[in-house]
Amino acid sequence: MRAYTYSRPGSVPEALARAGAETAFLAGGTTLVDLMKLDVLAPAHVVDIDRLPLRGITGDHRGLHIGALERMSDVAAHRTVRESYPMISQALELSASGQLRNMASIGGNLLQRTRCGYYRDVSTPCNKREPGSGCAALTGVNRGHAILGTSDACIATSPSDLAVALVALGTVVHLASARGTRSVPLDAFYTLPGSTPQVETVLQPGELITGITVPSLPWASRSLYLKIRDRQSYEFALASAAVALELRGGTIRQARVAAGGVGTKPWRLTVVEQALAGRRPTAETFEAAVAHAADGAVPREHNSFKPALLRRTIVRALTTLTENKGAR
Ligand SMILES: Cc1cc2nc3c(=O)[nH]c(=O)nc-3n(C[C@H](O)[C@H](O)[C@H](O)COP(=O)(O)OP(=O)(O)OC[C@H]3O[C@@H](n4cnc5c(N)ncnc54)[C@H](O)[C@@H]3O)c2cc1C
Ligand code: SF4
Repeated sequence: MRAYTYSRPGSVPEALARAGAETAFLAGGTTLVDLMKLDVLAPAHVVDIDRLPLRGITGDHRGLHIGALERMSDVAAHRTVRESYPMISQALELSASGQLRNMASIGGNLLQRTRCGYYRDVSTPCNKREPGSGCAALTGVNRGHAILGTSDACIATSPSDLAVALVALGTVVHLASARGTRSVPLDAFYTLPGSTPQVETVLQPGELITGITVPSLPWASRSLYLKIRDRQSYEFALASAAVALELRGGTIRQARVAAGGVGTKPWRLTVVEQALAGRRPTAETFEAAVAHAADGAVPREHNSFKPALLRRTIVRALTTLTENKGAR
């Protein structure tokens, strides 16, 4: 770990005044400190944001507002979240471990770095860590890597489970910097790797996530997050699906579907959503709806199973959701 300066401001303006290109905000530290120890990240200044007033989980007619410093475990356990947006609670509870969820924040979760092993190993080439050095994963161990949204420069998956559920729900992320505030749809917040995989979001240097708003979506009470992984716990997704269905009179009126573990960003699947709308929630409907879910996929040597896994994961999520809640 390299030397850095540390400060712990008590207000957002004070934190923003200290932030710049060489600064990292420290929330729970469960990603940042690891990467600093590994020499993958070496910020000159660390601004500890733990004392900032960025907490609170509130609901109103516009939706659910969550402060950036709310802990993963508190959000997962919150009654409104559990009842109105179960896929958010499930995505959080299937993430990391109890201890990590007690420490880790919502803002930090959305900005956690990829779990590509080469990114964390400074002895290997990695365009995300060191632009222009190459990508060891292209010809290396790429079983867990992405098949959608990849480029010749990077095939790393986006790791956050929470982000998949939030993208399905059309969540907006609120940002603040010394220049002012802005709000960005989470789907547009994440960028594709292209030729600049070191740029993962539209966040500008020194810009802070202050919170998120999940739009009001009454039928999201019928939603589910399914995570497929090598171990039953403490493991990242090989594939995951966040699904929500509005059912009326035995017909699907609307659907929300997003996938994780397969894309270089959380992957909203409007093609599946459109194929579900207006159909009855049957096995045939679900199978037909996922037919094009993996269109455009570029599998590599070790992850050629992922297109089929993606389709099956979505079908299982939809089947479980309709069985659990009844297809009324
Ligand atoms: C062993 C292990 C297993 C895990 N398993 C999973 C899993 O299965 N699923 C999953 O989704 N996650 C998993 N995680 C990741 C974990 O959820 C993240 O480490 C955590 O959510 C990060 O939150 P934090 O508050 O600790 O962020 P920090 O480590 O403090 O920060 C992370 C990054 O975000 C930046 N940052 C933090 N907050 C803000 C803000 N408000 N505004 C601007 N920048 C900010 C920091 O500068 C840093 O770059 C795992 C982590 C570990 C260590
Ligand atoms: S996949 Fe991306 S993160 Fe992994 S080695 Fe290649 S460039 Fe680096």
